This record gives sequence, C-alpha cells and structure tokens, in this order.
Amino acid sequence: MLSNLAVRDIETLVHPYTNLAAHRETGPLVLESGKGVYVYDSNGKEYLEGMAGLWCTALGYSNQELIETAYEQMKKLPFQHIFGGRSHDPAIELAEKLKEIAPVPISKVFYGASGSDANDTQIKIVWYMNNALGRPQKKKIISRLKGYHGVTVASASLTGLPNNHIDFDLPLPGILHTSCPHHYRFAEPGESEQDFSSRMAAELEEMILREGPDTVAAFIAEPVMGAGGAITPPAGYFEKINAVLAKYDILFIADEVITGFGRTGNMFGTTTYGLAADTLSCAKQITSAYFPLSAVMMNERVYEVLVDQSRKIGTFGHGNTYAGHPVGCAVAVKTLEIYQRERIVEHVRSVSPTFLRRLTKLEEHPLVGEARGVGMIGGVELVRDKATKASFEIKKGVGPKSVLFAQQEGLILRAMGDRVAFCPPLIMKEAEIEEMFDRYERALDKTLAWAK
Ligand code: PLP
Repeated sequence: MLSNLAVRDIETLVHPYTNLAAHRETGPLVLESGKGVYVYDSNGKEYLEGMAGLWCTALGYSNQELIETAYEQMKKLPFQHIFGGRSHDPAIELAEKLKEIAPVPISKVFYGASGSDANDTQIKIVWYMNNALGRPQKKKIISRLKGYHGVTVASASLTGLPNNHIDFDLPLPGILHTSCPHHYRFAEPGESEQDFSSRMAAELEEMILREGPDTVAAFIAEPVMGAGGAITPPAGYFEKINAVLAKYDILFIADEVITGFGRTGNMFGTTTYGLAADTLSCAKQITSAYFPLSAVMMNERVYEVLVDQSRKIGTFGHGNTYAGHPVGCAVAVKTLEIYQRERIVEHVRSVSPTFLRRLTKLEEHPLVGEARGVGMIGGVELVRDKATKASFEIKKGVGPKSVLFAQQEGLILRAMGDRVAFCPPLIMKEAEIEEMFDRYERALDKTLAWAK
C-alpha cells in the first residue's frame, strides 16, 4: 500500500535517473532527515549512507558549522552576482583557498552551480581558446566510454553511457569517445595492467591520428570513473595518457567532481594518479553538498588566452546567475576549513585500509566478480559466472536487486547495471564501515537466493 506522500509524488514528479514506468508502481523512498552518516525515511527507519547522497555529502548530514555559516551568510548578503566585475568576500576567499590546495598550478577560478555546467564551461573555454589562438579547426574533445561528465547537451555528449545518448540525439558532433580503461572487463586474458594501459594509450593515439591532431583540442577524464561503475584506473594508465596528450598539444581536463576533496586519499585524484591536468572541474564535496556550487580551475596558459581574447572582443560572454553565489561560496570556504582542521585526508588514509579490506573481501562471495577501490570509493561487479566473468542478463536487474535488499538491511547504495558503488561520507568511522559491509554481505546472500 503506497503512502499518501508516495501517491502525491507519483502524481506530480518526473524523477531524474529513474525508470519512470516502474516508479509509477513502486513509488518513492521518501527520506525525511539525516544525522551524521545516517538518513531516516518517513517511517523513521534508519539507513547507513553508503553513497554520501550522490558521492557528495562528505561531512554527513548534520554539520552545524555549515548550517550556521549558510544562515549567517544569508542574513548578511543572501545573493549577489559577480557579473560585470562585481564581487564579494566569499567568492574571493574561496578562489584563494582553491588555488592554495589545487593539485597543479592554478591561475584562476570560474564558478557555476553543478558539475554539468562546470564541464559545459570547460567545453566552451576550449572552443573559445582555440578560436582566440587562430586555430579554429582544433575543437574536438575526446572523452571515454563509461565516463560521466553530466547531463547538459554538451556535458551529456562527453558522458560515455548509452542512457545519456539514446533518443536524446546525442552526442554532439566533434565529441568522441575512446576506450574504457576497465582492466577486469576489457583486458585480454593474461594482459597485465601496465600492458593494458599501454594499449589504452595506443588506442587514444590512434584516434587522435585518425582524426588529425590539429583537430583535437582536449581530453577529459575522471581520475576514478564514478557513474560508469566506480572504476579505478589500471597501473600506469594516466602516465601513458599524459604522454600522448603532450605529444599532440591536447589540453587535459580533469573531472574531479567526485574525486575532489579527499575521496581518493589525497585532496585531489589528480595527485593520486598523476594527471597532467590543465584545468579541473569541481563540485559536490566542495560544499559537502550543503549548497549547489561548482568551480572550474584553470592554469595561467588558459587564462592568458581568455584575457587576450577579451582585449580584442570585449566581454567574456559566459556565466550563470548563481555563479559565485555568496551562500555557496561561504559554505565552501567553511567546508574546506573543516577538511583542513579535521584532517580529512589523513582520516581517509587511516580508515581506507578497513574500507578496502572489507570491499575486496566481497570477492569471496559467489556473486562478486570484481571488488576494487581506492581511498573511500569502490565498485563491485556482480556476475553470473566468476570463472568466465559472464554477466547476468541486464534485464534481470541483479545489481539493482542487491541494492534493494541492501535498503531492506538499512543501507543505501547505488547500482549502475550490475556494478554497485560504495562512496560513503568521508567522516565515516571504522565501526560504521564494518557495519556497512556486514549489511551488504547480508544483501548479497539474499540476492544469491533470489537469483537462483
Ligand atoms: N562529473 C562527474 C565526474 C560526476 O560524477 C557528475 C555527477 O555525478 C557530474 C560531472 C555532473 O554533476 P551534476 O550532477 O552536479 O551536474
């Protein structure tokens, strides 16, 4: 029997990333409140947050300092834009902090409100920059199959997942997808991670040569692929990719929307995996998701071109109303302060061995083909046959079923096909990590019984 709230939901909402037909039958999971690493539904049932919302609530659900910061900023200056050279203290302070902690030398910061619009900005900057440099043919952008970069027309084009393209008439021309570096799935039998990475880099180079290096402007990648299935890169991958990009003067855009601010055991995934990034997209954990905010960080080389172009044509004609929102910036400044004061990176490093030990132990389960992660993010792939790596029929929905069983056990996770992601709030303690995996193990046993 659906609750009154569930019925009203079905009658009024189109949910993002939801099977709209199935939702009409099943209705929503209505969540009402949160405390620490737990959230509570409208019946008062408690769930451990295994996904930090959508890879974002690093500081959990009841951080009083963030709440008070937002309230104080709202009282003082609830809104002010930064168009036409206006500014305010929180926007400036945040940019200074970001420059200070950036993993590569950064010259300037451009704000937005979501990861998608940050990546849209990246594309526009790349196009604008190459026009300014007098090479208007150098515009193509290479992304990766299973990469996730957002949902706007342009950022959804970068995304390399079928559901984001089918019937949306995407991707846009000029946006290409190279191979997905998922060793478990795509390596040849016996191929080492290093050899697989060399093959991935060679395939990227072949694509660049096929297209013509003078037509390829940029490459975008997440240090760890998130929505593609929480896939960590194989050994040597980014080192080899860096070399190919440098050879053909191709800009490297690091999409740090999930990996930014401690997730991989360093402040940025760029450091963990050695990406030679020219620009970075950040969002989500930048405010621990307490306020929508994104930031594009760019190096001096990119910024100089933008300024030169402005000297020629005037206004840099890009930006959203909420770019540099004072409440978002104030919350982000406080979030970064808390990360530093609470030594969030050190915390991740100290609990990560427990997280990774329990994650990889899942491989002992008959349903789990691969379980792999870094820092406090990991992916688990459910398979029909571990020896042959044969998948279940996707329509059977084994991954989503395991997540549903996890929900019954009081754990929120996310399935992407038959890959299930773990990405809890960074403040999670060892005992809670153990509890999270205990609950998922019980969910897996139920899934196994159901799948037979
Ligand atoms: N880039 C990455 C790596 C992401 O994981 C996401 C969202 O999950 C985005 C971009 C898009 O961000 P948003 O949903 O805020 O538009």
